[in-house]
Amino acid sequence: MLMSEDSVKVAVRIRPLVRTEIERGCQTCLDVIPGESQIVICNTTKSFTFNYVFSPDVSQEEFYNTAVKNMVKNIFQGKLCLVITSYNVTILAYGQTGSGKTHSMGTNYVEAENMGVIPRAVNDIFDMILSKEDWNFKVTVSFMELYQEQLYDLLTDKQRNQSIVDIRDDGKNIKIAGLVEKEVKNATETLDCLTQGSIGRATGATAMNAQSSRSHAIFTLCIYQHKKDDLNTATTAKFHLVDLAGSERSKKTQATGERFKEGVNINKGLLALGNVISQLGEGDPTAYVGYRDSKLTRLLQDSLGGNSITLMIACVSPAVFNTNVLDYNLDETLSTLRYADRACKIKNKPVVNQDPKISEINRLNKLVQELKLALVDQ
Ligand code: ADP
Ligand code: MG
Repeated sequence: MLMSEDSVKVAVRIRPLVRTEIERGCQTCLDVIPGESQIVICNTTKSFTFNYVFSPDVSQEEFYNTAVKNMVKNIFQGKLCLVITSYNVTILAYGQTGSGKTHSMGTNYVEAENMGVIPRAVNDIFDMILSKEDWNFKVTVSFMELYQEQLYDLLTDKQRNQSIVDIRDDGKNIKIAGLVEKEVKNATETLDCLTQGSIGRATGATAMNAQSSRSHAIFTLCIYQHKKDDLNTATTAKFHLVDLAGSERSKKTQATGERFKEGVNINKGLLALGNVISQLGEGDPTAYVGYRDSKLTRLLQDSLGGNSITLMIACVSPAVFNTNVLDYNLDETLSTLRYADRACKIKNKPVVNQDPKISEINRLNKLVQELKLALVDQ
């Protein structure tokens, strides 16, 4: 069994201001204390400490290499050094709509240096498979959408209203009846599934007069492996990559009718997820864990806790119109940080430096680095 502090990690990622925010004169309400994994709300002493905190200038590559790469390696290493039957990894992106979840996860696959976690992890997995010549592997991929407590298969050829699948629970493993689990031989085939599913998700949302940000997208790889000539070493690992629905609260968006119902279901799922993760973090194996409180947590039941590793990526926007008042966006950002804080077992550190302003120090540090690089180039 893994230690509870190893089983759940939280990474907060601050996205940069987008063009329209800069044009509207928005300012940044978040600062990062370098080397401290600490995030500070500007003009306050309010701060949070996490396993990782990434500032807006961190590239997709740096983000992946720092927070995710080792988890992917563990899918394989765990098999070799521990006697276990399954070793699951779950990565979840949480945050309000527009905070950078899809960008960070790479759910809408883009190539090259801007690609997110999913394509990078897929490439690493197949590189590792190729390097393990004395092992046999079989990889399958599935892609689901959870909308209004209904699970849809994004890889089926069926019409949307016939693509509904359901969770079966044999007390140990979670199985999804009727779900397409496509065997894939390489990264290209896997990423084709990601593209196909993402297109289907967008079309499905339009057909239902909804937005894809109102559903959870769950991309899953199952990796079966055994040492050649030794079936006793056979194991299965599930790797879930989840782009969660926007966490903004429906009361605030003044939604009514269908939109309000959507919000209630989303909140229910996210609340249950937060409860489960924080209960697991308590590390008491006898404690009741509320997996059955929502479809999202039921679905992930065998991949949270136990011999699983979870990374929550909490995405936040730094944009505010005025750093002195509590505006809508800051309120949502704070709510995400509080949610992530509950999931994180690290104790908050007091703010170490407020004066002079941390952002000014960060800016100057960056400038020094750039000047150093410019000197080297000459
Ligand atoms: P969400 O999925 O949470 O709704 P998106 O991932 O779609 O949010 O991001 C909203 C916008 O911000 C997009 O235009 C996206 O390209 C941009 N964005 C998000 N995170 C970053 C980042 N780290 N660097 C650059 N642009 C980003
Ligand atoms: Mg999104």
